[in-house]
Amino acid sequence: MKKIGVLTSGGDSPGMNAAVRAVVRKAIYHDMQVAGIFHGYQGLMEGNIKELELGDVGDIIQRGGTKLYSARCLEFKEKEGQLKGIEQLKKQGIEGLVVIGGDGSYRGALALTNLGYPCVGVPGTIDNDISGTDYTIGFDTALNTVIDSIDKIRDTATSHDRSFIIEVMGRDAGDLALWAGLAGGAETVLVPEDPFDIQEIAGRLKRGRLRGKKHSIIIVAEGVMSGQELQQKLLQEADIETHVSVLGHIQRGGSPTARDRVLASQMGAKAVELLRTNQGGKAVGIRNREIVAYDFNEVFEGVHHFDEEMYKLSKELSI
Ligand code: ADP
Repeated sequence: MKKIGVLTSGGDSPGMNAAVRAVVRKAIYHDMQVAGIFHGYQGLMEGNIKELELGDVGDIIQRGGTKLYSARCLEFKEKEGQLKGIEQLKKQGIEGLVVIGGDGSYRGALALTNLGYPCVGVPGTIDNDISGTDYTIGFDTALNTVIDSIDKIRDTATSHDRSFIIEVMGRDAGDLALWAGLAGGAETVLVPEDPFDIQEIAGRLKRGRLRGKKHSIIIVAEGVMSGQELQQKLLQEADIETHVSVLGHIQRGGSPTARDRVLASQMGAKAVELLRTNQGGKAVGIRNREIVAYDFNEVFEGVHHFDEEMYKLSKELSI
């Protein structure tokens, strides 16, 4: 291929910029041209496309968000929208496309590939919920943001002898909650992968209080229920008072960690390598420290791997 395109789509994540930079520089290194497509699939359909040079991706490796902007676009879920996108790509002489985003964005990339237009997916989401890859770009940064917040909340929880519920993101996956719970020393972690018993949590909080422990941290993944709902349940069913902190969108922002920048660089470069060697229709991932490519269908047919061992450990350490 002589010319490829790159876009970011769906929920943004720290490290998307580092991935775009890697795509642009790796492609130029191989004497290919790169077009940046702005505002995701929406911009693609509208032809919001500009050629990117080396300098266009300078000074962005350390920045959160995405310089290409992101968007959600309902029209692109229909074949008509996808054909409009392909028409724009062909008009500009773009022969293959790198899509950086979550599993919704991957569905769009798969749709284009099935229509004969080669796409490659790079996992950009803080949720770490894409099957086939151990980590997604942005997860590590979001995790560190959550940990920082837990530490701060713990200071005030300790000072006032309070129990706090902290609601974290993750969509239907419990990875962010689990890792944050373990790294933040939470007493309880609730994840969508494991149904919970409110009386068991209440029992644990009460046992802690009898031991003289006056504060506690409960992490709840948004895929389980909201922090407020859990607060109501604990009050109504176990007479336990808690305070709630919903971390919200701060989890999606901020300068990417070194780990996310390195991962994004490796994955962006791998995506270019795949298109360069005519291997469209693949997702890039990392497995056991190795950067891999695998079929898009595996993303949708597979089940996201939840680390049961780590979950067990987090319970053992928070008795
Ligand atoms: P994420 O990529 O973070 O999971 P979304 O689920 O919002 O975010 O998906 C991002 C965009 O991908 C959507 O706005 C839409 O344009 C496109 N998309 C999602 N699902 C499909 C689908 N089934 N077919 C084609 N495009 C899709």
